[in-house]
Amino acid sequence: MKVLVIGGGAREHALCRSLSLDPDVTSLHCAPGNAGIAEVAELHAVDALDGAAVADLAVALGADFVVVGPEAPLVAGVADAVRARGIDCFGPTAQAAALEGSKAFAKDVMAAAGVPTARSYVCTTADEIDAALDAFGAPYVVKDDGLAAGKGVVVTGDLAAARAHALSCDRVVIEEYLDGPEVSLFAVTDGVTVVPLQPAQDFKRALDADEGPNTGGMGAYSPLPWADPALVAEVERTVLQPTVDELRRRGTPFAGLLYAGLAITSRGVRVIEFNARFGDPETQVVLARLKTPLAGLLRAAATGQLAAFPPLRWSDGAAVTVVIASYNYPDTPRTGDPISGLEEVAEKDEHAYVLHAGTKLADGRVVSAGGRVLSVTATGSDLAKARDRAYRAVDRIGLDGGHHRTDIAAKAAGL
Ligand code: AMP
Repeated sequence: MKVLVIGGGAREHALCRSLSLDPDVTSLHCAPGNAGIAEVAELHAVDALDGAAVADLAVALGADFVVVGPEAPLVAGVADAVRARGIDCFGPTAQAAALEGSKAFAKDVMAAAGVPTARSYVCTTADEIDAALDAFGAPYVVKDDGLAAGKGVVVTGDLAAARAHALSCDRVVIEEYLDGPEVSLFAVTDGVTVVPLQPAQDFKRALDADEGPNTGGMGAYSPLPWADPALVAEVERTVLQPTVDELRRRGTPFAGLLYAGLAITSRGVRVIEFNARFGDPETQVVLARLKTPLAGLLRAAATGQLAAFPPLRWSDGAAVTVVIASYNYPDTPRTGDPISGLEEVAEKDEHAYVLHAGTKLADGRVVSAGGRVLSVTATGSDLAKARDRAYRAVDRIGLDGGHHRTDIAAKAAGL
């Protein structure tokens, strides 16, 4: 199978790494990719948001299968453009990707499917905004309706800040605050059958102890020793399958990766949000534990064959990933800083590896090229061991002005 992956972050590096380990994959390409992905795939330049350009590239390469990583190309219809040229593609249609692209649409689907989520109002006027903020009280949860690359959600006790954010959006969802730990659960689906993956937890705040501003994610781990073993089956029954059924009923079946961001509240599981693609950085730890070859699984989803797919195989162990971010991230990051220590990790750390996020090659050196730069990932027989190995590898890496959290998976590992 000749495979083309679209995207260029650590999620795509994790996808490419797993795809490169699948014996059925004979040739692997990525566009645009990054300096790390270049080690396992051939890179191509492309505007990932341009469906015609991505489809042209897939045709030119003779690709059998295209995997779209990020949300923006999916919402822009890139998967549709590829399929229109007769090439199998993992990723939902633009219409189904609205589950992530519009929070109001997601709320409507959940209401129709009876999926438990925060009570909410969709507001477009100042009067509606004030009424909704008043109805729920603090802490306020205010979400821009559209895609905002993780920056559209404000959770605050400050009424003036909540109101200002709401007024800055064209259309805004204001909802009830959900208390309790968060879980990310991914499912691969072909639009009918749902195959849940193992749950993970990510760390959204920039600083230790969940302080500081929201980010795209500073680390993740899997499995979740504190979670109810029945959680995955419950979420499949109450969230994932009803959502997939509802989208099929509407004539816009969702095939691809359905990501449920969940809050485990005292009143039960509630959906915080849906995403239409693999999450970053949770993918790094979920795929580190998946033993089933990835290309076969994703292709089965893309071709409506999941019902006949054998049960997934998982390692019994754990995985931890720690994100190293640029100076000033999540504000405008400084880029172009050289990265050292990558060879040392490759030589000395048998159970750790570095997935690249924002990196590129400049004059033969790997330099930072984005906010989140690396996702240092390790496995072990338990979380404490995986965590130790991840941080040992982090310590070998140099990035001027770079920062990372020191408490990823600490609580879950019992530390
Ligand atoms: P979202 O983009 O919807 O995932 O929101 C980003 C982050 O905001 C989530 O990961 C949560 O930490 C937080 N958040 C979103 N909705 C709620 C809610 N209803 N209650 C509490 N926290 C929330």
